[in-house]
Amino acid sequence: MTTPNYLNPMTEEALLKMTPEDALDRLVQGNKRFLEEIRKSCPHEEDEEEQEQEQVVEPKRDLCDFISKTSSVGQFPFAVVLSCIDSRMPTETLFDQFIGDIFNARIAGNFVNRDILGSMEFACGRLNETGKLIGAKLILVLGHNHCGAIAGAAASVHPECFNKNYEVESVDDNLGPMLKELEPAVKGTKPEDPDLNECKTKEWQQDFVNRAAKTNVELTKENIICMSNALKKLVEDDKVIIRGAMYDITNGRVTLLDE
Ligand SMILES: [Zn+2]
Repeated sequence: MTTPNYLNPMTEEALLKMTPEDALDRLVQGNKRFLEEIRKSCPHEEDEEEQEQEQVVEPKRDLCDFISKTSSVGQFPFAVVLSCIDSRMPTETLFDQFIGDIFNARIAGNFVNRDILGSMEFACGRLNETGKLIGAKLILVLGHNHCGAIAGAAASVHPECFNKNYEVESVDDNLGPMLKELEPAVKGTKPEDPDLNECKTKEWQQDFVNRAAKTNVELTKENIICMSNALKKLVEDDKVIIRGAMYDITNGRVTLLDE
């Protein structure tokens, strides 16, 4: 069985040894542990006795030790995760990581703008006192199913199919302009011209929104490279990888989109 990584918060030494592929694997393994936690908390009747025995040996996170050292030691996160503000996807929980392991960028619909890209450049381009790169090795763009932000953009692009699911009081509000950032993903998701007999059903709408959320992850990955020379260079120099994934809010599973 893998040692839970939450017992090993990131250090400078660990980060210097880590490859971008190691960083991705740490998140993949963390999500497997999270799924195992879900499985244990949803016992089937036939193995109830076994579940009770497993719960006794649950390891404890040494939060006190970590907090007391953090200001003198600093932070060495190995990944940047760009995810939605959706309350059902707290990154450290679903990847079973600890305080100090991940730079989180969260914005409704997980797209990039100048502020998010600037934060990513900071996260990936950090140097230590001797000039060695101690930035994050991985940028993970994490979309999710049942995304309200993508559904909002879908309602703007296809008002004939969707009911509006948010309230904008005036043209000075910020939500409408922000959702416009997600419209390219919606417009890039087939069908461009939905069948009016089909598109009013919940099943059609959920399927469309979930596919648009995947398109959005792919577009966001492209935008990171197109809009940031600094990050593009780190990728070209094999210092950083950019990957896309989808989180399923109904079962806790993260699926990588691009192998
Ligand atoms: Zn969302």
